[in-house]
Order: sequence, then structure tokens, then C-alpha cells
Amino acid sequence: MRILLIGEICLDFTTPPILQSFLSAFSYRSTFNERLIAAVTPRKHVVEILENNKQIDFSSDHDVVHIVFGTSASFNAYRVADGFRENGKTVVLSGNHPSALPNEAKQHADAVVVGDALKVWPHVVRDLEEGRLQPIYNSMAFKEEQSLSLADNIVSFMKMERRIRFVNAVEATRGCPDKCVFCQYSNIPGGSIFYTRPVEDVLNEVKMTNEKLLYFKDLSMTINPVYTKTLFRGMKGLNKRFICHGNVNVLARDEELVKLAHEAGCIEWTIGFETFSQSALNNVNKKANRVEEYILAVEKLHDYSMAVVGTFVFGFDEDTPDVFEKTLENIEKLGLDGAIFAVLTPYPGTPLFKKLDEEGRILTRDWSKYNRKDVVFEPKNMTKEELENGLSFVTDEFNSPSKVAYRVLKGFKLGFYPAFAVLAGNLGSLRVGHRKN
Ligand code: SF4
Repeated sequence: MRILLIGEICLDFTTPPILQSFLSAFSYRSTFNERLIAAVTPRKHVVEILENNKQIDFSSDHDVVHIVFGTSASFNAYRVADGFRENGKTVVLSGNHPSALPNEAKQHADAVVVGDALKVWPHVVRDLEEGRLQPIYNSMAFKEEQSLSLADNIVSFMKMERRIRFVNAVEATRGCPDKCVFCQYSNIPGGSIFYTRPVEDVLNEVKMTNEKLLYFKDLSMTINPVYTKTLFRGMKGLNKRFICHGNVNVLARDEELVKLAHEAGCIEWTIGFETFSQSALNNVNKKANRVEEYILAVEKLHDYSMAVVGTFVFGFDEDTPDVFEKTLENIEKLGLDGAIFAVLTPYPGTPLFKKLDEEGRILTRDWSKYNRKDVVFEPKNMTKEELENGLSFVTDEFNSPSKVAYRVLKGFKLGFYPAFAVLAGNLGSLRVGHRKN
């Protein structure tokens, strides 16, 4: 069969292709998920990964089109799926959104994968070969493949890509058991099952990757510190630099892991602080976060010359209109090197969506607005407009030219590569316009 894989990068029709190429060369936006799916496809089939939306050709000679996408891209994904089906192609859909709403996705597909597509895709391909494709495949019904050795296949598809890249993505582990109520990754079927690739396989992939800068896509590198320490020990001496995600509890307490991360080439950690309200954290089940440990985690990472970017969410039931000013003050005290702000988004498939829906607080089911910027639910202790304007305020204040310049200069104290990461992250969020209010 001739199989075409399409990911979210090709479903973004608002960013011009030239800007898409630029962004994907310098950031982790990539065809990463498609590469993994290609890597588990039996070699007897011809697999092509679409690299930008310019290349979408509904009358191409592919037999099967597999589209991977999340909630905010679902409208475009369905349009593309319908276009291919009208031209006689067999369409398979996977990703967070089809996993959360398989019956909706099924209206635009011949088959839908619920859960981990890596585990299921080889079975889908076998059923396609034998002409007995099923409408829904749930990864929970398939045995866990703990020993996936993917490095050679991943790298061979990576090398087929025609675009320039300065940063490459890699994934050592999958899933997160914590099940924070707003987290779609952890709450879709199978998403809370944590599994690890063999360390040797990840190291082989890293060694074969040409790019010096890597981005670990793992939801968190601190879920299994023993595994992560083994991986970091193996990375020492490979002369790579990388960015990864981790949680406060381990980073504040486990100095050995922090030290090994630095020695392995880590230049920046992204941490989901979410909020400075402990009761909000408790109510959304973010077990890894204790507010009093935030400063310990940041100081420890800075001590080992790694930058820290925090992600913050607004719109928890505990948030009142003064949360924006207070968050900025607290971030200042932490001395973060960068921050990413979002509004609370009740993604389908999460306990948060269910709760807000039961309370009649979901304002729209236009999934394109589930983008972490638009407010799609009725906040409890402020108006929708206050939340929207608050997000703009906090983003603009934090990313004003003077504050960006200060953070970038401060970043040089951490060394060349961390400063480079701080520069890239901060320039990407620089605000020179006026805020809405
Ligand atoms: S810790 Fe992070 S990845 Fe895990 S469930 Fe919570 S938000 Fe999701």
C-alpha cells in the first residue's frame, strides 16, 4: 500500500508555508508524531510524511491517509479527511481529539484509533492488508509493546525529510499517570499508562541525529527518575544540548537528577507550575506541585546552569480578577527565564470538560476555539472578558521589550546554550504592540 501520514503542522492553514518552514527549522514544531507512526509501519509498504500544507493533493496515488491531530485542529483535519475520502482514499484518524471523541471522528473516517496510535497502527495496517478494517481501534485492547526499538526506523524517516532543521525532537517515554483534571493527554484512554523506550534505543537515536539541539517531547522526564538518570548518564559525552519537561516535586528534591541533567547537556527545563494557588492545584489534582517548592526547583536548576520556563494557566475556580497581577509578582520573585501563559481549556475527554458541562458552563463546542487562548467556558469568579483581557495583560506585561532584554542578559550568566534557549524563547514571545485593555 502507499500510505500518507499527515500531522498538525500540515493542518495549520493560517501560517504561510514559508513561515511554517522557518518555525519548524528553529523550534520543535515537526513531523515528529508522523515519524513514529512511519517507524512502526511494516517495511513492505511505502510511507510518505507530508511536510507542509502546500503538498496536500486529494487526488494523489495514496491508498491510505492517516491524519494525527488534536482538538483545535479538528475542523481542518475533518475537511482534509473528507477531501481524501471523496477521492476514494481510505482515511484513518488518530490523536488526542479522535481519542476523546471517536464517534464524532468516525463521521469523517473509515477507521479511528482511540489511544496510543503507535501501539495500534501495525494492527490497523494488517487489517487493511486483509481487507477487514474495523471502525474503531482502542489501544487499551492491545498488549503493551514495552520493548519498541525504533531508532533505526525513526532516523531513516528523519533523513528523508527535505526541510532544514536546527532543532530535532525525540521521545523517550510516553504517558503520565497523574491525571490532572484538565490534561487531555493523561485522560484519554491509555494516556495515563506510562511506558519507557529502552534507554539504548533512545541513545542510538540521539547519536544518529545530526542536530546538536534536541527537544524531548516527553510529558515529563521526572515521572520515573531512575529511568531518566540512566538515560542522562548515557547522554553524558554525546555533546548534545537539550530542552525537556519536568515536575516541581522531583526537580526541587532530587539534586542527583538535576546534576545528571546538566552533565547530559540539558540547557532548559519547562515546568508546569500552572498557578500559585495551592487550593487550585489540589482541586485539579496536580499532585506534583507544592507552591512552597517552586523556588527550590528554580534555584536548583539555576545552580546547575539550566534555564527555567514556567507554564501558567488562568481561569481556575479559585482565580479572581487580581490573579494576573499577583502571578506576575510571584513569577518575578521566582526569577524565571521565560513563561508561557494560557487560559484553562476544558478539552473533551477530560474530567474538567465533564464537570463544566454538567454545570452548564461550556460556552461553545467550536473546537477550533479550544486553543488555550480563547475562553470557552464560564469562569467562576470573573467574567469571560476579564479572563480574556487578563491573559492579554499578563502576556504583554511579561513580554515587554525591557523585560525580555533583562531576561536575555540574565540568561548569559547560565552559559552560552542556556542563554541561546532563553533568547529564542523570549524573542518568540516579545510583545511590542499594545494590550487590549
Ligand atoms: S503532570 Fe502534566 S502531563 Fe501529567 S497529567 Fe498533569 S498536566 Fe498532564
